[in-house]
Amino acid sequence: MGDRMYENVYDNYVKYGIEAIKDGECNRCFGKNLKEDSFGVIHCLDCYSYKEITSDKYLFRKMRSIENKVHKLELNFDLTTEQISGSDFLVNCYIRRKNAFLQAVCGAGKTEMTLQLIHYALLEEKTVAFVIPRVEIIKQVSLRMQEYFPKTTISSIYGGSSLLPDSPFIITTPQQLIKFYQEFDLMIIDEVDAFPFVENQFLERLIKKSAKKNAVMIYMSATITKKYQQLIKQEKIEYHLISRRFHKKDLAIPIFVRSDNFLSDKTFKIILSLVSLKKPLIIYVASIAKALELKSQLDQKSLKVDYITSETKYKKAVIKAFVNEELDILVSTTLLERGVTFKNINVIVLEADADIFNEASLIQIAGRVGRIGDEGLVIFISKFKSEAMMSAKKAIATFNKSKL
Ligand SMILES: [Zn+2]
Repeated sequence: MGDRMYENVYDNYVKYGIEAIKDGECNRCFGKNLKEDSFGVIHCLDCYSYKEITSDKYLFRKMRSIENKVHKLELNFDLTTEQISGSDFLVNCYIRRKNAFLQAVCGAGKTEMTLQLIHYALLEEKTVAFVIPRVEIIKQVSLRMQEYFPKTTISSIYGGSSLLPDSPFIITTPQQLIKFYQEFDLMIIDEVDAFPFVENQFLERLIKKSAKKNAVMIYMSATITKKYQQLIKQEKIEYHLISRRFHKKDLAIPIFVRSDNFLSDKTFKIILSLVSLKKPLIIYVASIAKALELKSQLDQKSLKVDYITSETKYKKAVIKAFVNEELDILVSTTLLERGVTFKNINVIVLEADADIFNEASLIQIAGRVGRIGDEGLVIFISKFKSEAMMSAKKAIATFNKSKL
């Protein structure tokens, strides 16, 4: 133990610790994208958006000692057979110190499958990071984890919130990993195939920096990209697929509808007929501008509509109104693509052939329907059939066929 490092940045008058930028490399993010200013000071362009780092600063890596050693896993429900198989797989890989990829369809209960694993590592007095890209999901997962592990000090770290001392279990955005150096024995990386991880060498470096040399890495996702398929082969990563949801019902297969315009008469008719079913409807659109446009067009038809995007100030209030069935329709960008569960919904994707809707994203969106064993429709409306649309449909059909 004893070598968990939390990193602080000091100005040059301290001259304490290690030089922040040395030999053409930034010691904070291991980037080589440096630039010298007219005073001869070198700046790191990769991590400048954090507290600014320059060659006249020093990094101080401080050991964290953790006193809190009592951990108890409290589950007030039983895992399903599939969840047990996922959970056993993870614990088994961890005991053998093997890296693993767990692919589980939306709604399979991935978080629940990690509980035995986390408990095992905590009992070994190891440090655990659960890395989740989206702040909203970090908040949800943190609440649940604190219920499952009532005696453990859990830190949730995202812009602004801070690390609790004595905390062996940290739930964090990938960006906040920058403060840790060889800290974690077990890292669980959620939604690893999605934004912001895809082709992001900066975040890959932060993950490497914060993991101990012999850390066990667990990757989780509902979908798997070619890159990870190759990595699994090359690096002999263990792989396990959970293709059924906990309630064992099939995933909804997307229906393709052709429409030449953004909101054609045909599209509008489909919207009206779904609204008449008295079930909440989410319409996904490709951009914030499209969300505004659709909301204003639907407003004119006297439907109760609101929209949610990354720029929406009171996201919770909008979601609450939707859940309480005060709205007929919620228009959303890909913001609500994953991690959220709504009862009894139908889903439309408008301009499903737009670039922003890649295969993973479409599978996730389709996975919003029927998460709790209820039934609903998934309709992809577009002018063209994109490759992403077709491969998403194929992948969902394959999940349904699998026996597990
Ligand atoms: Zn840097």
